[in-house]
Amino acid sequence: MEGETSSSHSETTPLRYGHRAGHSQYSDGSPVNVFHSVNFRKDSEVSDVDDAHSQGHSRSDPRVARAMSWQNVEVTADDRDTVGSMRVISSKYESLDYDQVENTLFSYEENLILFQNVQCMQVKRWFVMFLIGICTGLVACFINICIDQISAIKYSTVRHFTKMCRDEACMEYALLVWNGFNVTFVTIAAFMVAYIAPVAAGSGIPQIKCYLNGVKVPFVVRIKTLITKVFGVTLSVAGGLSIGKEGPMIHSGAVIAAGVSQGKSTTFKIDGKVFEDFRTDTEKRDFVSGGAAAGVSAAFGAPVGGVLFSLEEGASFWNQSLTWRIFFASMVSTFTLNVVLSYYNGDPWTLSNPGLVTFGKFTGQAYYGYEIPIFLLMGVAGGLLGALFNGLNYRLSVFRLKYVYLRLSCVTEAALVALVTTTISFTMIYFISDCHPIGSNSSPEPLQFFCDDGEFSATATLFFNTPEEALKSLFHDPLGAYKPVTVGVFFCIYFCLACWTYGLGVPSGLFIPSLLTGAAWGRLVGIFVHYVFPGGHFSDPGKYALIGAAAQLGGIVRMTISLTVILIEATGDVTYGLPLMLVLMISKWVGDYFNLGLYDIHILLQSVPLLPWEPPAMAHNISAHDVMSHPVVTLNTIETVGKIVDAMSHHHHNGFPVVDPNEVTDRSFGTYRGLILRSQLIVLLKKEVFNETVGVTSLRQRIRLKDFRDEYPRYPGIKDIKVKPEHRQYHIDLRPFMNPTPYTVSQNSSLSRIFRLFRGLGLRHLVVVDDHSQVVGIVSRKDLARYRVFHHHFKLELEELHISI
Ligand code: ATP
Repeated sequence: MEGETSSSHSETTPLRYGHRAGHSQYSDGSPVNVFHSVNFRKDSEVSDVDDAHSQGHSRSDPRVARAMSWQNVEVTADDRDTVGSMRVISSKYESLDYDQVENTLFSYEENLILFQNVQCMQVKRWFVMFLIGICTGLVACFINICIDQISAIKYSTVRHFTKMCRDEACMEYALLVWNGFNVTFVTIAAFMVAYIAPVAAGSGIPQIKCYLNGVKVPFVVRIKTLITKVFGVTLSVAGGLSIGKEGPMIHSGAVIAAGVSQGKSTTFKIDGKVFEDFRTDTEKRDFVSGGAAAGVSAAFGAPVGGVLFSLEEGASFWNQSLTWRIFFASMVSTFTLNVVLSYYNGDPWTLSNPGLVTFGKFTGQAYYGYEIPIFLLMGVAGGLLGALFNGLNYRLSVFRLKYVYLRLSCVTEAALVALVTTTISFTMIYFISDCHPIGSNSSPEPLQFFCDDGEFSATATLFFNTPEEALKSLFHDPLGAYKPVTVGVFFCIYFCLACWTYGLGVPSGLFIPSLLTGAAWGRLVGIFVHYVFPGGHFSDPGKYALIGAAAQLGGIVRMTISLTVILIEATGDVTYGLPLMLVLMISKWVGDYFNLGLYDIHILLQSVPLLPWEPPAMAHNISAHDVMSHPVVTLNTIETVGKIVDAMSHHHHNGFPVVDPNEVTDRSFGTYRGLILRSQLIVLLKKEVFNETVGVTSLRQRIRLKDFRDEYPRYPGIKDIKVKPEHRQYHIDLRPFMNPTPYTVSQNSSLSRIFRLFRGLGLRHLVVVDDHSQVVGIVSRKDLARYRVFHHHFKLELEELHISI
């Protein structure tokens, strides 16, 4: 394995990190603490790409485009070569810091903390969770009410035109008006995403998954992302796309949490001077899990599902009191939504609107034991259809990344999808005649369209309705409410449209289209079963629609426990718990046999260094020595300002081992004393915490942890720090600021062991030392994430991915 890996690297792959000859010395001529080894990129490769990034191509350079990717960075034609490969990891993503730096400043602050302070912090944490719950609930209400109002205007206008044009034979006007509404709404949404916050596209669940996993996705929790998300999803749902508003609520909740918990907005340059203690990655991430849970809770009326969602996605750094607080935020969120929506719906005290979508009450006999085998078969079908959906969407996403990445083309594509969706829906209503007497379905507003007076069009109930209403109709309308052909055609069309729509440059949720597609084929199964066994026991196709919906969603997203609980809570009937769980499990297993879940596919397409739950299989024979990077850029315990600035300017690393200088050999870099982060060094340089002479304590050294928190989260770059030439010879004693007790591993540790340590503790850097505590290498998230197991001709193979610059 080792031999194979090394040779393939040196021949073909752009390797993970190189040491440029020109950078092997500090500017004063003394050597940087590094040693060379095999396995690095060629110098020419480094300089070409680095220069492209550092100098920056001009905007007019046709090779450069602001890509519609999560990173929202300018990408060159070179970058595009690796686009669409799931076997690349982007070095542009940084990690979050979860490890507490227990340095002298921290100890000093801890000594000053009284019992009351600790309690006060706890109270503040609960209070922040409360605020997160309220704000998330209110945002969900805002989205819902806006969609409701806009859709009401749109649908009544279009209905007016269809009524008028039926008599005057001018149906093209009705279609034009409907298209006019939809294309306008969707285009505005797409413009907002493309020009304000590309990271707001899609459901946001993959991005939040990455954040909870420990990856800093740029702009993911910014206020402008939230604004784009909220208005974007409102317009794109009102624009009739095959999407839902529920998924984006999870992202919205997370952004709300990140904003509220920090008590400041860097974008608007407002600092409320509250919650300053929470300005660390660890605290912020805890609140973000609360926000995501509150989002799930508001979306589906599923507080427990929300907690489990956060648990499933970020459980490695979990604790009991955090679970409680997250549950509290979820409960507050669903309650706020319930109160406001009940009030909005005209009955303030019924409290019957716990979520943006609920599946309605399933009355009558739930199911019979002998139906379970049919449900299991439906689970298999859901897995197959989910895998097909993911496979098609993967190919489409690769195509988009390669050819539809310019902002304007993304907007055009969104407008085109809106146009096609509307036109197909209209055509279907026109051509599929499925008329029933009014009163034979559950809809309070039956849609007549091209049916005779006294009748309504079942086709229009599916195509000319919000997806949530269509879903409820499939769940609850009686057996004869739809002709099989209507449901069949709807399934085929909606499957294709949902597949085309996911990944479009607009905020969009995947849950509802997946559920709706599944409900359609599930209902068909129900109709078929009734046809085969015409007895009364099989006369309710609604429950088959529910099971189909679960199977399809499970086959696409492949979430486990949280999805089961979300669906049980949305159904409001625990009797369905067992079949739902079985169906979700089976559809996941079947789907996993063919490809990954859709969220994971999109994460891999964005080259995010996500660490899975478990270390890759077959990784026990790979040792730290194979995984680690070397040479290591280290700093001495007492270092000159000039050397620190040079090290930070020439290397993009975010962590530097601090060593005793006197023991450097040709294979190691001195005795390991601690680890210092780039962000810490930036603050030290900015605050000029350095002395003219070694050992003299300057007044300027009176720096507090607060100074570090004040800069959080957007630290200036090293280029923004102006160091006077005469200060370059000054010294900084790094010992009071570095982390003096970071985790280390021996060079013989296996990849599996390192992985568990890293994942379990949420580490960012792990220094590899030899038997004498000498630094010999360093491991970061990307070094671990690049070992991944892939299915290859029905065999598992451990692959080593490229790390792109
Ligand atoms: P992160 O990006 O996760 O916040 P980072 O920027 O310090 O952390 P990476 O970008 O993950 O590190 O590292 C890219 C490569 O550089 C990895 O292979 C890693 O092992 C290596 N690396 C990180 N820090 C150092 C260092 N101080 N000296 C040498 N190599 C390093």
